[in-house]
Amino acid sequence: MVRTDKYTTESIMKLLSEIPDPEIPVITIKELGMLQNVREENGKYIITITPTYTACPAMKMLEQQILETCALHGIKDVRVELTYTPAWTTDWISKEAREKLKNYGIAPPQKKACSAVFSADTVQCPRCGSRHTEIISRFGSTACKALYKCTDCHEPFEYFKCH
Ligand SMILES: [Zn+2]
Repeated sequence: MVRTDKYTTESIMKLLSEIPDPEIPVITIKELGMLQNVREENGKYIITITPTYTACPAMKMLEQQILETCALHGIKDVRVELTYTPAWTTDWISKEAREKLKNYGIAPPQKKACSAVFSADTVQCPRCGSRHTEIISRFGSTACKALYKCTDCHEPFEYFKCH
């Protein structure tokens, strides 16, 4: 039987840092700023994550993924806790993750603390860098992203909406 006591909150944190975002596999939940901490309480490990978008159906998937990753390493007494304060913002996305998003073809969130109203001229095409882009749909493959089209290279791309 695999004993769980060889794990520390630090090693679990490290393990979970490798989990990719359920929607954008090139970046990890750590890079997104979702993974907050791991603490031990009466022999139970409690993992705190901040949901990116509250309505994201991917959150259930992520919770499952965290539990599976732990189970795979013999860590059984685990609970995932969601925290909404402070609320996650796109400002928490690391610089490296923004670069990865761009290389993946998703325009990273452009500015700090933007409102729900976003204008097309602030979104830069991740492929050619043109700012001549137009919004096609407020919702891309998920509610977290909007669909844009570049009027220079004519490629559609997804924009990670800020909030
Ligand atoms: Zn372009």
